[in-house]
Amino acid sequence: MRHAAGGSAADRWAGPAGTGTRWPVGTGKRWPVGTGKRWTWSKVSAVHAPDGRGSVACDGPVYAYTYRLYPPSDPSFERCVSLRWCSTCREFSGAMVFVPRGEELPDALAGLPGPERERLERSEVKLLGHLDRLVRRGAWPPPRP
Ligand SMILES: [Zn+2]
Repeated sequence: MRHAAGGSAADRWAGPAGTGTRWPVGTGKRWPVGTGKRWTWSKVSAVHAPDGRGSVACDGPVYAYTYRLYPPSDPSFERCVSLRWCSTCREFSGAMVFVPRGEELPDALAGLPGPERERLERSEVKLLGHLDRLVRRGAWPPPRP
């Protein structure tokens, strides 16, 4: 069967810009096909940025996690990293943000043993893997008091 609208393959397939990841849009499939690779996180400047025609290929929820890089004694203590990610298409972005000294940030790594914590803190991608598991378990975002 031919469709009258007849778009090219490129119209029906889309992935995060510049990553080469492609998956069927509007088919309900959640995994890229034909890449033969394990699906990995791709860093973008903005999660779910619209493409050239103003449409966004993914409608998954975008989550956020802000964490401190420096100990309280460091002059850079208020310089934090804000991660945003979508668990559906695995786009993520990281940005530097300022969080005032007095503001408490929820700790997604609370309760983890020290070595595991260090392992996750060394790698954005490992940290995202952990955050994604929390989301799937319903443990992120944390409940607000
Ligand atoms: Zn998405």
